Amino acid sequence: MNPVLNGDMTARECVDATYTEIDAHNKEINAFVELTPDLAYAAADEIDARIKAGQKDELGPLAGVPVGFKDNMNLIGSKMTCCSNFLKDFESVYTATAVQRLIDAGTLPIGKTNMDEFAFGSSTETSVFGPTKNPWNLERVPGGSSGGSAAAVAARMVPIALGSDTGGSIRQPGAFTGTVALKPTYSRVSRFGVTGVSSSLDQVGSFATTVKDTALTLNAISGHDRFDTMSAKRDSEDFTAKLDSSVKGLRVAVVKDYLEADGLDPEIKASILAGVAALETQGAQIGEVSLPHSEYAISTYYIIMTAEASSNLARLDGIRYGARAQDTKDVVDLYLRTRAEGFGPETRRRLIMGTYMLSAGHYDKYFDRALRARTLVKQDFEKAFADYDIIVAPTTATTAFEFGAKQDPLTMYLSDRFTVPVNLAGVAALSMPSGLSQEGLPLSIQLISNYYDEATLLQTAAALERSYDFTELPSHVAETTA
Ligand code: GLN
Repeated sequence: MNPVLNGDMTARECVDATYTEIDAHNKEINAFVELTPDLAYAAADEIDARIKAGQKDELGPLAGVPVGFKDNMNLIGSKMTCCSNFLKDFESVYTATAVQRLIDAGTLPIGKTNMDEFAFGSSTETSVFGPTKNPWNLERVPGGSSGGSAAAVAARMVPIALGSDTGGSIRQPGAFTGTVALKPTYSRVSRFGVTGVSSSLDQVGSFATTVKDTALTLNAISGHDRFDTMSAKRDSEDFTAKLDSSVKGLRVAVVKDYLEADGLDPEIKASILAGVAALETQGAQIGEVSLPHSEYAISTYYIIMTAEASSNLARLDGIRYGARAQDTKDVVDLYLRTRAEGFGPETRRRLIMGTYMLSAGHYDKYFDRALRARTLVKQDFEKAFADYDIIVAPTTATTAFEFGAKQDPLTMYLSDRFTVPVNLAGVAALSMPSGLSQEGLPLSIQLISNYYDEATLLQTAAALERSYDFTELPSHVAETTA
């Protein structure tokens, strides 16, 4: 289903159609914060020229597919703002590896997508460009921090977009917008050129409308990169290879403690159990596991992530690049005022918290203990994967919430309680739509695999995709495609 490779339209026409769609809906949804028509048309012309020259067979399956990139990823010819005042005018001087690899696969770079400032948040409400709206219901958040990428795909502005996931920033917006959202194994995809928040947790991944597109995207972006010191020395694989395979004999476990958690929406729970039942009918062996240390995951995460973020963002000091406060008295005044004026309130909160965690006397009390707790969380997963291939969990406890509903930071932080443990362990996970709630909002399910077993993760997701048969679209999309 690639209209350019099918010969239904030229790549240039595809870019035209994409921008027409974005023009019609982006004002309202605010998924894109910058469009890159020069880059998109240049890429399209190259594809069209190759097709014209009879080289169509040499093009990969993603050739001519429009894509969006979260605005914490560098792309030469565009700005990279992290949706912060601090970097509002920052022009990329190089291109992130994952972005370059997706472009090298023949995709058409349409633009940069909205996000919570520096990827701190779960609702995209902290962006300096204003919030992104959920295409399913404009009064609801699209999730975050990669809310712009999620909404762009959900609204069918682009079929594929990249995001980053430190504690759930791909899966949680995926869940809120009814998209297939993959966070690969830690170190599977290079983070070179992506603004680091928490280097031991950050991972690049994707949003798509189908499991197949998710697999094709991972084919393109994964693989070793010497510019990311944590990048795994593993080649990319063909992640589409097992998509049609039966799940017969696959060992699948439900996380008992998550499904019994207080506050889990009964509609979400029912849809997860329906998915598990479908896998069982198809021959999977179903069991239960417990991840008891997940209870400490949010506290552990907020110590580690803020500590690492405070160190990563120390480079934003008003001297090297980005914002600089004017009329300062001396260099200390310049540092202080630049950081106070450049960062929004949530970013400041995180950086103050992280600096505190790492300060003398607190390091042992907080950071060191958090690292130990992290090991316990990780061991829970290792134990589970000794007996099972796939773990099933909720992605979120609720469907998309209303703007302003989580003013208290702790309540906001808790919205990631089912996604954060996965980042602490470093395993791979995917969120996909599992139905529609009575209110008309997407429900979702999270699948988790062992390290580097994305092939089985995607195989299971493909089986569930066939059984859920989720074909609903946000209303404005349904109207335009009807
Ligand atoms: N919502 C989480 C947070 O605010 C996760 C962010 C992320 O994954 N970048 O930290």
